[in-house]
Amino acid sequence: LFVVFEGGEGAGKSTQLGELAELLRGQGRDVVVTREPGATGVGARIRSLVLDTTPEEAPSPRAEALLYAADRAHHVATVVRPALTRGAVVISDRYVDSSLAYQGAGRTLPVDEVSWLSSWATGGLKPDLVVLLDVDPRTGLSRVAARAESADRLEAESIAFHDRVRYAFLDLAAADPKRYLVLDGARPAEEIAKRVARRVEELLGS
Ligand code: C5P
Repeated sequence: LFVVFEGGEGAGKSTQLGELAELLRGQGRDVVVTREPGATGVGARIRSLVLDTTPEEAPSPRAEALLYAADRAHHVATVVRPALTRGAVVISDRYVDSSLAYQGAGRTLPVDEVSWLSSWATGGLKPDLVVLLDVDPRTGLSRVAARAESADRLEAESIAFHDRVRYAFLDLAAADPKRYLVLDGARPAEEIAKRVARRVEELLGS
């Protein structure tokens, strides 16, 4: 089973991902928790190229899209597919939808081209479930304001950018409702965790 958490800045993905992993491990399941960008050695270097940079030195939108695609291709080939093949539950913090939302809607690259690039990178691997934690960027950004690593970079992107990202995620979910669980990221963490657990347990047939 391949589960992906998506959402904007400060939506609470890492908290929820951790809760779900703990629950499933407690049931004795083989669980692999991973993330994009940066889950592998190659990925960590790509993450640093894209994210540890000043706005002046940041890669151009197309270069950025290719770097995220390269991270994803390597991640799928070396982490996600091998784990799924042995029957593990894979839980990823971000996947293809982040590229459609950030590089597509956010940076205004043609979304169908970013989508093509992503399916080439992944060999067409789709998640069984995408949990979208939806949060108003004004709330989300204030939650992450304390994270020093992202302060300069996030400041360089406008609220309009984060609004485009948010609505792109919501549109993707609306277009394929069976594959998505959309939850209000402003709700209490325990409530969100319960709803995620219910949906995942349904999919696992437990
Ligand atoms: O989820 P996490 O906070 O690790 O993401 C790091 C940053 O990478 C986010 O601020 C997001 O803006 C950016 N990102 C992106 N495009 C992606 C994935 C992440 O711009 N495809």
